[in-house]
Amino acid sequence: MKVDIFHVGGLYTGCYLVTDEISGEAAVVDPGALSDQLKIAIKSLGDNKLKYILLTHAHFDHILGVKEIRDMTGAKVAVHIGDKDMLSDSSISMSTFYGVTSDQLPKPDVILNDGDTISVGEMTFKVMHTPGHTPGSVCYICGDAIFSGDTLFAGGMGRCDFPGGDLSSMMKSLKKLYELDGDYKVYPGHDDDTTLDYERKTNAYMRQAIK
Ligand SMILES: [Zn+2]
Repeated sequence: MKVDIFHVGGLYTGCYLVTDEISGEAAVVDPGALSDQLKIAIKSLGDNKLKYILLTHAHFDHILGVKEIRDMTGAKVAVHIGDKDMLSDSSISMSTFYGVTSDQLPKPDVILNDGDTISVGEMTFKVMHTPGHTPGSVCYICGDAIFSGDTLFAGGMGRCDFPGGDLSSMMKSLKKLYELDGDYKVYPGHDDDTTLDYERKTNAYMRQAIK
């Protein structure tokens, strides 16, 4: 499994192209914009190799590249049921600020629930529902990696003051992550990657969540 890291759009959203090196099949997590580099990387996979566009949640800065990538590749768009409506409403996803209307937003192909799995080549992405930043925020666990969206950041956590945000849910979600067995690389929705063990020891929000 190979993880290519892109920081896309005005908010430098962490976007990840995850490729199964055996089959050449891939998924992209949170394409908040389609940068030139991301476009080249997706094209170089070859035809029909990008299978899924996995969304950790449906805020504008994680979804504005989705439609173009879907049109270009036919990859299926997956989002948790709790953020499904946000994906089709440009005001809730805050996409209106970017002049994006609801009908320009991508339609989801796969609606996710906690514990669902998505197979891409030899890789399996497990869906972990981690509400708090949005009602339908998820983390995807694949091999030794967690794609944590705007739930867990290096030394931080996502904001809970947007519509649908909820601090007590966030605390429960951070606890759920803390209680996973073993260590993982953590690829967040913004800023640098980290590891779960490092966050378990040093992340003040996570420390608060386990009290
Ligand atoms: Zn967000």
